[in-house]
Order: sequence, then structure tokens, then C-alpha cells
Amino acid sequence: MKLEEFPKDIRPYLIPNHKGNLFYSCLGCHEAYEIDKLLYTCPKCGKVLLIEDHHFDQLKKIPGKTWRKIFDYRKMLKIPALKGIYLFHEFIGPILPMDDVVYLGEGHTPIVEANAYLKEEAGVSFFFKNDGQNPSASFKDRGMASALSYINYLIKKGVSSNILAVCASTGDTSASAALYASYLKPGIKSAVLLPYKKVTPQQLSQPLGSGASVFEIPGVFDDCMKVVENLSEKYDVALLNSKNAWRILGQESYAYEVAQAFEYDMKDKIIVVPIGNAGNITAIINGFIKFFETGIIRDLPKIIGVQSKHANPVYKYYLEKNPQKRIYSPVNVKPSVAQAAMIGNPVSMPRVIHMVEKYNTLAGQNKTFFVEVSEQSIMDWELLANQNGHIACTQGGETLAGLVEAKRLGLIGKNEIAVVDSTAHALKFSGFQDMYFENAFPDDFKILPNKHLINKPVHVHPKDLEKVPLPGCPLEGKELEAFINRISDEIALALKLKKIQD
Ligand SMILES: *Cc1c(COP(=O)(O)O)cnc(C)c1O
Ligand SMILES: [Zn+2]
Repeated sequence: MKLEEFPKDIRPYLIPNHKGNLFYSCLGCHEAYEIDKLLYTCPKCGKVLLIEDHHFDQLKKIPGKTWRKIFDYRKMLKIPALKGIYLFHEFIGPILPMDDVVYLGEGHTPIVEANAYLKEEAGVSFFFKNDGQNPSASFKDRGMASALSYINYLIKKGVSSNILAVCASTGDTSASAALYASYLKPGIKSAVLLPYKKVTPQQLSQPLGSGASVFEIPGVFDDCMKVVENLSEKYDVALLNSKNAWRILGQESYAYEVAQAFEYDMKDKIIVVPIGNAGNITAIINGFIKFFETGIIRDLPKIIGVQSKHANPVYKYYLEKNPQKRIYSPVNVKPSVAQAAMIGNPVSMPRVIHMVEKYNTLAGQNKTFFVEVSEQSIMDWELLANQNGHIACTQGGETLAGLVEAKRLGLIGKNEIAVVDSTAHALKFSGFQDMYFENAFPDDFKILPNKHLINKPVHVHPKDLEKVPLPGCPLEGKELEAFINRISDEIALALKLKKIQD
């Protein structure tokens, strides 16, 4: 639709024109820093930063009703820069010119309702939001689109050049960073550090395919992260981990999309998110806060953060109900099928603590909850979901298992509807599915397959069938006929098919 065809009242706002005045805000010493260069941590106290807008109050001058109309109509524009996360430009990066936005098809992922059977099994009405349907097949693309758009802006302004973007990763950050960086060649090159054998083969193939330099390091993610931090302190590199506050900003888009998908009605809604480095939950909470403060949504949804018992520092922190008595301590992780969230010392922990407090204060009640789930339940729920029309990854299984656990704990009301985050595509983690079907999990996972969920291919090759087709050597005539009939009969027998009567 062309601009002049939109309703008059929103026409001036359809192309974003809010000029943000962004700044980095330190969660430790509350110092503010200019946004004109890339900062990862506070130069004064070393704590993590968040990006805020001095002009945020200007957004409140536009009524919530008008905002809702702007976002809904804006979807009809055919401007690539506004097709992804920057549909919500005023809230995500209002200093970035449209021309600098990097759009590779991220965001606006489907929200798919669970069928009646799966709802019944879970005991809760819910939807999956399939963030695996992003360009690099995980939600990380939301934050990477934001971080790389900002770097692109710095390059175009002449502030930076020849950037080497680096990150440590449990697999998906590197896939995403390598993809987005490759789009901005030759101004940007990327290097990724992965824990050796701790990412799936699919995840390893992604940065290799995008042409990044890939380094495999002994240890787990937390060790890689320390090396990357060391590199960023000593050398001139751009850090793309979620320590980078631009990533958090982009990931807020998830919250805005959920709000939009439910006509901005967040009453009786529950958002369930897996927690690893805790960037995602921070961003989602912050997104709902911003929409609430501008009157775009009238209620704050319940937020449930989920961790595996094998990597549960955030869960453990919130076990203590008295905020004054809470003590944060990192944990040593054990192997987890929710491998992308297998992190013992989340970088964004201070952000979570800050955001959760702000959220509950705004809501006037506790609206944030944390649950832990077993490795067994993660696999069982992932497989059951996928056998009912979904494409959930193991982290998606983790969130669904978390929803069921929350229900068991009495945290879910009768009329509440949940949106469960499947943060990546099932295919990235199919190796865990194979291990389940083969009953081949190493002991420390403590996973035994449920026989109703096991599925294996059947190799059909009857011994008495002498001739079978081979590549380059097709069968013909009688031999082909014998082959087709014999194989069909085997399959019919296995499926107990009934013959058509004539
Ligand atoms: C990174 C990642 C997570 C964890 O998200 P955090 O922001 O680190 O908490 C969960 N699932 C998948 C698939 C991921 O790639
Ligand atoms: Zn500081």
C-alpha cells in the first residue's frame, strides 16, 4: 500500500521519525555514556550496560491506540528496513537511519497454537513462537540484526573501519554473527570461538559456511567467553556476545511481536523463555516494560524463565524468596540437551536482577517466576510437541517442560494462555533426537527413552529380492516389476494395509 492511501491520522508516523537520544547506562554505578562508540562494559566499574533513550518520554505523547494502529498499518509498507525488527524502530534503535538497517529476513516468526491433544497433555492452553524460523534458525538473529545495523552505521559515518567481529558461542550466536557479518563484507570480518565438541554439527557448519574464522576451544562456553573477553580487552575487536547491549535492544522485538499477535491484549498471558546467558529474558522483559509504559499494552504478562537442572544459576538465585537474602553464585554446568542454554555464569545476570525488580514493581505484584526441569522432561516434551505439528528445538522442549512444571507448582491460572519460546529450529539439535531413539545418551544426562516416543527408519530390503536398482543402474521390465511389487508388499505388511476390493 502506498503512503497516501493510509489513514490520515497515522500517515505522519508511518515512516519512523522519532529521533532517539540513546545512551549506555551502567547497571553498577549508574554512569551514562554517549552512544557514539561501541562499549561493552562500564569503563569506570566494569559492569554490564543497557541502552536507554533520553527522549523515551516523547513516545508517551502518542496515545497507545495510535501506536497500535501505526505498527499494524506499518506492516503493509514495502520498505525492507521496516520488514524485520525495525517495524518497531522507535523502540529498538531510533538513531539508526533506514539506509543503515541490515535486514536478512529476521523477526515476525509464526505463533502456532498447540492442538487439542497437546494442550490436554500439557494441561495448559499454549502457543509456540517459532524463533527457529529466523534466517540462521535461531532468535539470535534479532539481536544480531540490531548489533550489525549499528556497526554498519558506525562504518558509514566513518567512525570505524575494518572491523573484526568476535563472539563466543554455544552455537547459535556464532551462526548468526557469521551470517550477518558476511553480508557486510568487506568492511567486517568475523571470528567465532566455540567449545570443542559442545555445539552440534549443524551449528558448526553454519559459521564455516558463512566464511567466518572458526576456533574450537577446550572447555565449555564459560571458558570461551573468558577468552573472548580477554581478546576484547587487549585487541581492537568488536564483541558480538550479549554483553553487547545492542543485541539486547534487538531481542526486545520478540515481546513486541507477541503483543501485536494478540491484538496488544496481554491480560492472562504467560511468556515462557529458556535461560542461558540471560540476554533473551532480559530483552523480553524490557520490551514489555516499554510497551506498558507507553500505553501500548495495558497489562504485563506473566514471565516464566526455565533452566535445566544441569545449568540453573538463575533458578537457584530466585529460590530465595526474600530479595535481601538472595545471593548469586555461578554453577558448574553438567551436560544438557538444552545445550544452547548450558551456561553456568550468565553474563546478563545483573540485567535480569534489575529488570525483574522493575517489572514486578510496575506490575504491582510478582509476575516473574523461575522453574527448573530435568533433562528427561526436556527431551520427552520436545519429541511430543514435534509429533504434534511443531518444530521445537531442545530449548523449546525445555520451555514446554517448564510450562508443565509451572502448572504443577500452581503458578498457572485457569484462563491463562502461554506463549512458549522455541528459540531455534529442531534440525539444529536432531543429534539429541537420534540419541534418544537409539537409547544412546551418556550416563550423565540420565535420559531413558519412552518407547511411545521412539521412532526409527525401517530398511526394506527383502533377502530373496535378487536385483535392486543402484545409482546409474536402473532396473527394467520384469525385474523392475518384481522389485516394485515385492517392496510394496513388505510396506503394506508393516503398515497392516487393507487391500482394495474390486
Ligand atoms: C542462546 C540461546 C538460548 C539462551 O538464550 P540467552 O539469551 O543466552 O539466555 C536459548 N536457546 C537457544 C536456541 C539459543 O541459541
Ligand atoms: Zn559503571
